[in-house]
Amino acid sequence: MPFHMYMASESDSHSNDNQESLKSSVRRLQSEMRDLSESAQQLLTEKLVLESEVAQVKKRASRLEEEIRNLRSPPMIIGYIQDITDEGAIVRSSNGTVFLVSVNSRIDESRLVSGARVALNQDTLSVIEILDDSWDPLVVTAEIIEKPDVSFDDIGGLDEQISKLKETVELSFKSPESFRNFGIDPPKGILLTGSPGTGKTLLAKAVANSTDAVFLGIVASELAQKYIGEGGRLVRELFDLARNKAPAIVFIDELDAIGSKRLDTATSGDREVQRTLMQLLAEMDGFESLENVKIIAATNRPELLDEALLRPGRFDRIVEVPMPDEEARLAILNVHTSKMPLTKGVSLQNLAIKTEGFSGAKIMSLVTEAGVSAIAEGRNKVSKSDFSKALRVVERNADDSSITSNDRLYD
Ligand code: ATP
Repeated sequence: MPFHMYMASESDSHSNDNQESLKSSVRRLQSEMRDLSESAQQLLTEKLVLESEVAQVKKRASRLEEEIRNLRSPPMIIGYIQDITDEGAIVRSSNGTVFLVSVNSRIDESRLVSGARVALNQDTLSVIEILDDSWDPLVVTAEIIEKPDVSFDDIGGLDEQISKLKETVELSFKSPESFRNFGIDPPKGILLTGSPGTGKTLLAKAVANSTDAVFLGIVASELAQKYIGEGGRLVRELFDLARNKAPAIVFIDELDAIGSKRLDTATSGDREVQRTLMQLLAEMDGFESLENVKIIAATNRPELLDEALLRPGRFDRIVEVPMPDEEARLAILNVHTSKMPLTKGVSLQNLAIKTEGFSGAKIMSLVTEAGVSAIAEGRNKVSKSDFSKALRVVERNADDSSITSNDRLYD
């Protein structure tokens, strides 16, 4: 082989080798590249997972910090706003002391009204928050009516009782100075005694209406039975609320449920009832009679009441609400039929005679029953026969309920 040919073939094989090695390097680099981008992808995923874990841990940490802050923050005191002045709010804390305090600027001023329930800082007593009324446990117990829509005109046959209530409640709300001038205390409490359905609640609501007072009603038997262990506290809160909403009428129905004579038998239930009664007596003794709060209580069984309740300064005015006589029944019939179209044949006078022994509540159901009968028959006036039918229905209902109550007695 000539020398130049030999040279050429040698350089050819050399370049072939180079190309091969280049190719294999490229392949190696490509595979390395693939591996690297795979692991980059993996790292990226791991990074994302870790980032989301960090976010979660941070969230948990801030939740725990919040919890720690809550645990460390002192308890707040509950109080009521009495007045708002340029210097701040006058509040009464739950233990009865009155303070002038500052108000958190975040609080909506329109909600800062006297009587509002507020949370106070324990150290500075500044108003931190206004509590919703629905937080008040009393709301579930008491019937609170800002201004009852019952007036004295809606009550029939109780003129004497109305004028006694006017003397005691209206006069002391409207002109307390006359009592002061004579150096006497107006009565704090009035006890209405009488059979069920004779209009005791109605009287209390009407007097609240005529004096523009708030009506706060509770049923004593519910206090004693439903809120075991809470009776005393609820009585205290009820009076607090009454003072803050004054002028107010506190109406305690079925007073005998907490105010019966104290017996020697002392079951835990009895002790609870007694605690509630003691709290009631303490509250009645603890407030000034001119404080614009009057307590009206009602009972069907005055003979059962503890003497302590009837002492001066407590329920020292007793107003008897009798079963209506014929004249009173006529007045009650007039009240309840005042907006009812009647045919000429209906004689209320006759009905007053026929309803002997009926309470006001029973007369009201009679009138309602007669009205329902006319409506059911598509008439636009109530007739004598509607009343006759209604009389039979009401008598039958009364018989049924007396049978069931007797049954219960022999259970
Ligand atoms: P209880 O002892 O059962 O609580 P009460 O004496 O408080 O009864 P109320 O609740 O006042 O009786 O009366 C029940 C309903 O009877 C009243 O809403 C009213 O419609 C009617 N009523 C009772 N008495 C009279 C009355 N003198 N005049 C007009 N309506 C009356």
